[in-house]
Formats: sequence, C-alpha cells, structure tokens
Amino acid sequence: MDIKIYHYDVVIVGAGLAGLAAARETTAAGKKTAVITKLHPLRSHSGAAQGGINAALGKDDSIELHEFDTVKGSDYLADQDCVELLCSKAPETIRWIEKMGAVFSRDDKGNIAIRPFGGQSKPRACYAKDRTGLTLLQTIYEQAFREGVKVYDEWYTADIIYEDNKVSGVAAFDIRSGEMAIFNAKAVMFATGGYGRAYKINSNAHANTGDALSIVARHGLPLEDMEFVQFHPSGLGGSGILISEAARGEGGKLLNSKGERFMEKYAPNALELASRDVVSRAIMQEIKEGRGVGPDKDAVYIDLTHLPKETILTKLPELRDLAIAFLGQDMLHEPIMIAATAHYSMGGIPVDINCHVKSTPTQIVEGFYAAGECSCVSVHGANRLGANSVLEALLFGRHAGENIVKDLDNLVCREVSEDDATRMITEYNWIKTNNGEESVAVIRAELQESMTTNAGVFRTADSLKKQQKVLEKLSKRYQNIRIADKSKIFNTELQEAIELGHMLDYSKFIVEGALARNESRGAHFREDYPKRDDKKFLKHTYAYMDKDGNIRQEYADVVLGKFEVQERTY
Ligand SMILES: Cc1cc2nc3c(=O)[nH]c(=O)nc-3n(C[C@H](O)[C@H](O)[C@H](O)COP(=O)(O)OP(=O)(O)OC[C@H]3O[C@@H](n4cnc5c(N)ncnc54)[C@H](O)[C@@H]3O)c2cc1C
Repeated sequence: MDIKIYHYDVVIVGAGLAGLAAARETTAAGKKTAVITKLHPLRSHSGAAQGGINAALGKDDSIELHEFDTVKGSDYLADQDCVELLCSKAPETIRWIEKMGAVFSRDDKGNIAIRPFGGQSKPRACYAKDRTGLTLLQTIYEQAFREGVKVYDEWYTADIIYEDNKVSGVAAFDIRSGEMAIFNAKAVMFATGGYGRAYKINSNAHANTGDALSIVARHGLPLEDMEFVQFHPSGLGGSGILISEAARGEGGKLLNSKGERFMEKYAPNALELASRDVVSRAIMQEIKEGRGVGPDKDAVYIDLTHLPKETILTKLPELRDLAIAFLGQDMLHEPIMIAATAHYSMGGIPVDINCHVKSTPTQIVEGFYAAGECSCVSVHGANRLGANSVLEALLFGRHAGENIVKDLDNLVCREVSEDDATRMITEYNWIKTNNGEESVAVIRAELQESMTTNAGVFRTADSLKKQQKVLEKLSKRYQNIRIADKSKIFNTELQEAIELGHMLDYSKFIVEGALARNESRGAHFREDYPKRDDKKFLKHTYAYMDKDGNIRQEYADVVLGKFEVQERTY
C-alpha cells in the first residue's frame, strides 16, 4: 500500500477546545502545525457543552474557594498543584477567549453573567445562554484558522509512532478516500475527548469512543483512574441526552413519584446543587426503591414550572427544545423526566502538570502531550464539578501548546518510514477482510447494555466480575466480526469496527480499576464498600495492558496541598 509521509513540527489529534487551543498557540508561535480530526472541528463534542465555564469572577468569590470546591468535589483525589493552576488561571482564560471574540451572557450591570452550579459555594459558571461550548469552540476555531493552522478533517488517527519511549508521529487514514498517511513530527499531542460511549445511557457524541486511550494502552503505556466515570444526574428519560446542570442552577427541583423533593433527605444543605455523584446516586436510589416516574418507573422529575417564563426562554432555550423534541414535554408547563446518564471521563492518559504524557508515575514520554478530557492531569480526581471541564480543556490545551513551543528546540525528529504504519495497515486490512459472522452493532449494543448494568452508578464485586466475563466473551466474538462494506471510500462501517475494538479495550480498564478499588470515592460507588478508605486508596490508579490483553495495576500518590483531606458532605 502507498503511504504518504507528511512532515510537521507539531501534530495535534483532536479539534475540540483542547486541540484547537493548543494549535492556536503553536501556530501563532510560528510552528508548522497539523490538526487531525475524525469530525469537522465544529462537530467536536466541546460544541455540545451547554451550562458554562468556571472562573472566580463574582464579588465575594475567590480563587481559593474555587480551588477548595474543586478539591472537595474530587473527593480529595485531585492533584492540588494542578487544581491551583486551573483555578488561578481561570479568570485570565475567560478574558483571553473573550478578547478573541467569545460573546458571554451579561448581567444587569453589563458584567459577564455567572450562575450557580452543583458543588460550588458561589455562583461562578460564566455562560453564553445554554450554548457555551459552541460559542467557545467557534471562537477558538476562527482564531486557530486565522493563525493558519492546517486542519485534516475527517481523518482517522489509528496509531502513534512509538519507539524507545519517544513518539515521532501518528498513522492515520482519510475517511473520505481511504488514503493512508504518516504524520511525522517532533511533538504529538492527543486531545481526543472522552469515552462515555461505552455506556448505553450516555450524554456523549457518537464520536466519543476513547480511541486515543486504547491506542496508547496497546503500546504498554499506562492509563490513570479509569474507574472514575461521571454519571450526570439529568439525562433525558430513555435517551440520556443531556439536560444541563444549568437547569438545577436556575432553580430546578427534583421530585419523585410521590411528589417529594427527595434531595432534602440526601443533601439537606445543598439540595439539588450537591455535587453530581451525590445527586445521581440519590436519583438512582429513588428509582431502585420504587419511587420512579414514567412508563417504566425508571426516571424522576425535574420541575422548572415555578420559574418565570422569561428565565427559561432566555437562559435555557436549548434545554426546553431538547425536552420537547425527545420527550414531548414542555418545561414551561410540566415537569420533565430525567435519570442519571454516563457523561464524563475523569480518567485518561496520565500527564504531568505541563501536559507531558507519562510512561510511569515518575517518567515522561519524549515528544508526547495530551490535554482535555482524554487526559488525566488530574484536576477532577474522583468527581468533576460542573463547568470545570470546558475550563480544563481550554486552559490546559493552551498550556500544552505553550509547553510544546518551549520544548520544541530540544526535541529531535526521528525519521519515519512506511513500516511505521504496519500496525494500522494490519488492523485496517484484518477488519476489512475478516470473514466471521458477528456484527459490530450487536457486540457494541451488548457492551453498552452490560457496562450500564454492571459498571454503572452502583457497582459490587459480583457485578464487576460478571462484567469481566462479559468483556472476555465480547472480545473473543470481536475476533469473529464481519463487515459488509469492503470499499475504501467513506467506509464508516470499518471505522465503527475499529472504534468498537477501542471501546472493548478501555472498558477493561474501567472494570479492573473498579474491581480493585474496594472503597467508594466520588463517582465510583461500591455497594459492598460504601465508605471511602483513605488509608488504602487515597491513590491514583495506574493500569497497564500486556500483549494478551491482561491488565496490571499499580497505585501512585496523590499530590496533596493546602486543603486537608476531610469527610465530604453537602
Ligand atoms: C452534552 C455535554 C454537555 C457538556 N456541558 C459542559 C459544560 O457546560 N461545562 C463543562 O465544563 N463541561 C461540559 N461538558 C464536558 C466538556 O464539554 C468536555 O469535557 C470538553 O469539551 C472536552 O473537550 P476536548 O477538547 O477534550 O474534546 P472534544 O471536544 O470531545 O474533541 C475531541 C476531538 O478529538 C477528535 N478525535 C477523537 N478520536 C479521534 C481519532 N481517532 N482520530 C482523529 N480525531 C479524533 C474528534 O474529532 C474531536 O475533534 C459537556 C459534555 C457533554 C457531552
């Protein structure tokens, strides 16, 4: 097969907020940069962010309070040095993106408007109505474009070029034509977003299949804290499509089938604005105990009917439209049905505070960077606060770009050859020609259903062991798949088959991490170990996969700091 080789200083995979923020920096600094993305940049999941982006801008707010809320929200698993960077640079990040053209909603005095979000002691989510992500993404896309970044959109990255603890490029193919290429570069950055699609009920875009995580893991590099998957309290009943936390921020009340405002029982002070893990468990507990609503009694209500019509029409217009379109329920006049939905990936590719990918808790890989949801830096620990993730993607994306520029002179570019694409070509050809009888869609559906049941909001050793077996069986069946489309052009069936392979691999990390962690912390809740165990588990998980797909786990220390580890109540 003919392989083209492209040469760049910097190659960035992913065109969401993290990837484009980095690309803008490297391009503005005169570094020849390519962005590779399987979607058009503006279709990246960042564009779906509704509720807001945090920064301590309020009169009685402070950076320290933002830090404290973040560390507490993380159930003390976040690294406090990274949290400090996140929160201290948040106000400047807002000004930076605003100066570049992002239009934020305003308060009566003309200042950037802020609204309350769960787990935060002050209102601090800046927003653009309920289209915050799209506003930010459009701005950063325009700016990266203006600097002259080269975007390869609808290109699928299938592998990294990795040798002797150094990354020298990626192997990718053009989804439109099937053309294969190697992108050779001194610095490679992954910004490929989250992995929520492993779950049946989820709020994520179809593209959130965690490709980068499995690509990295297959080279024997570690993944960190994969067991921490955030379940958002308010996915639309049945589909899991997101109803932003802004709905609770603006005053939405949660009600069970008896009409009780049940959060009074679970978080008497913060009520609906407790952190996401707490509210999600409360909702699922009400459903479990038979107080659910809807035809299958598998949802609860969020009631916004007491809010002024104006508030909904001006601050939550998209949410109202979503509920009308998907449930036929108009939040102006009736409560709408919601339940917990897989939403965000706290775990990911381990990176140090300057976004260098790590090969062990103490060593880095040369020329390799990651930022945004695919990475684990870790600012969210065991549970992320609403509106901290768009902030992380933008801020650490930019920070990664700055660090790449700093490092670049000291990085050498290893020359690559066509042979470096062998793994990609083997995988591509195997999937195309394999003549089994299993269907990709069927295996994917079984994976998603079983992950939601066995490794969801509530977990036990039994449910997780069951899921280990399910994954083993599904991985075997995956070897026996067959796709009908044998063409090279827009072969989405082939792409979905590659993605399914990725989903199966990283799901193993979620399950193994969850099974080994005999405690409950943040989003990881073990019914058989309902308490947090700081003695044994105030640690990050580092997991490595061997060639046979077995996973070995180690633990690494959390970076503690000025905030002492305490019991967490809301
Ligand atoms: C519905 C929804 C609402 C949200 N609302 C908020 C909010 O209000 N506030 C908040 O802070 N957070 C929110 N989040 C979370 C937040 O939006 C994301 O965590 C963040 O935007 C992720 O940005 P990113 O740049 O890391 O990745 P993404 O924006 O997901 O971009 C990933 C990029 O990687 C590319 N890619 C992936 N795999 C490959 C591959 N194999 N080859 C080539 N390209 C690839 C994709 O094409 C895409 O361009 C929300 C998330 C969802 C799902």
